[in-house]
This record gives sequence, C-alpha cells and structure tokens, in this order.
Amino acid sequence: MKKILPLILLLLFLFTPNITFAAPSVPILMYHYVGENPNPRDLGRNYLSISPLKLEEQLTYLKNSGFTSISLDELYGIFNNQITSPNKPIVLTFDDGYIDFYTTAYPILVKYNFKAVSFIPTGLIGTGYYMNWDQIKEIQRTGLVTFEGHTLTHPNLTVLGSVAALKELKDGRELLQSQTGYPVNFIAYPYGISDYHVQNLAKQAGFVGGVGTWLGKTQGPGMNMPRIRVNGLMHHLDFASRL
Ligand SMILES: [Zn+2]
Repeated sequence: MKKILPLILLLLFLFTPNITFAAPSVPILMYHYVGENPNPRDLGRNYLSISPLKLEEQLTYLKNSGFTSISLDELYGIFNNQITSPNKPIVLTFDDGYIDFYTTAYPILVKYNFKAVSFIPTGLIGTGYYMNWDQIKEIQRTGLVTFEGHTLTHPNLTVLGSVAALKELKDGRELLQSQTGYPVNFIAYPYGISDYHVQNLAKQAGFVGGVGTWLGKTQGPGMNMPRIRVNGLMHHLDFASRL
C-alpha cells in the first residue's frame, strides 16, 4: 500500500476535473474591422476584417461554450485576487476606433450582451474612418464597452525619441480620460510594437498594463500581454482551437 499511495495521489492529481492548480490562462481576442472588405483586391484587409455574420457566429460559439466576457480592469482584478474569476473569462478587444465599431460591431455586442474593449488613437477621433467623441460617449453610456489607450496618432513608438514617445502615450491617455471621465489603465501599442523602454514609458504615462499582438493567452498582468488575432480568413475550427 505504501508503494502505491504516491501513484494513487499522482493519478488523482492528473485526472481530478475542475480543480485549478495554476493562475487562469485568459484569451484576449484582437479584432480590427468588422464588415465586408469593400475592396476584395486589398488582400491585406482580409486579415484585418471580419464579416458581421462571422462575428455573430463566434459570439454564439463563445456563449454556448460557457465563456464570460470581461474588461481589462476586471482581468487585473482577477489576477490581483480582488475579484473572483467567472467561468472561462475572455477579453474581446477591437483596435483603432474605426467607424464600423459604432455601426456594425457594437450593435452585435449589444445583441449578444458581450463586453468589449476598444483601443482609441485619440488624435484621430472624428477624422476619416474613425468614430467621433459623441459616438464613443453613446457607446460608453451602456457600460458594455471600455475605451483604452492606443496613443495619440498611432506611431511606431520604438522609433520615436523618449520625449515624443512619452508625449504620444501621455497625451493620448489624458485626452481619452478627459472625454470618458474614467481612469484609462491599458495601452495597446500601435502595430503591436514595443520594447522594454517603451513599456517603461507607458508606465510613466500612467498605464498599469499593456497588450501587444504576439500570439498566446495571458497568464498574469504585464506591460506586453499576448493576444489572439482573429481574422476574416480564419476557419471556425481554427478560431475555436485557439481559445
Ligand atoms: Zn492600431
């Protein structure tokens, strides 16, 4: 009996379901455009766009699989043991504050009651293909979406000098805070590009966490957490296998 006891314990350890021994591993999904590609010859755009139908299919799948959407603040609350993790937490992020977030993605999020994070390059708001502040505030009032930092003008921060990079981070954050009225705690680095120096500048600018575009699930707080890129060409099985 003495000899097999460790073996029994090992088997119990390996096969006992529903016991978590490690910190939660949380997928942070990354979306850009939601809509049909207006120019099918623009092949690059296919990787950044997802059709509304496909987004609905994915949200249905997430709901049926028991995922619970949370904000990045809630993610940090879980990592810091301030709040209890829901079953299968997941963060949905949408980069760049494009107008189709307001016209297409947001109504779908409301329909399925999914929380999401929208990363805003504040200096571009109200121009070209971007949302304006009234639209952002309208979305904000429902409480489903939190808006987080994406700099002022969307530069590659690693090629700027320290002063210019800090200004992009700090001014972008402060403008967003003044418009939304809540603390902006998270940054998505433009193009997913950052280095140790840029991550330190982000901390100086007041951010407590950041996300990049490298593939993976996040295991804990950090200034360059990974994300899972969702693109329009991705097969549903491929999407499901990455979660
Ligand atoms: Zn971006």
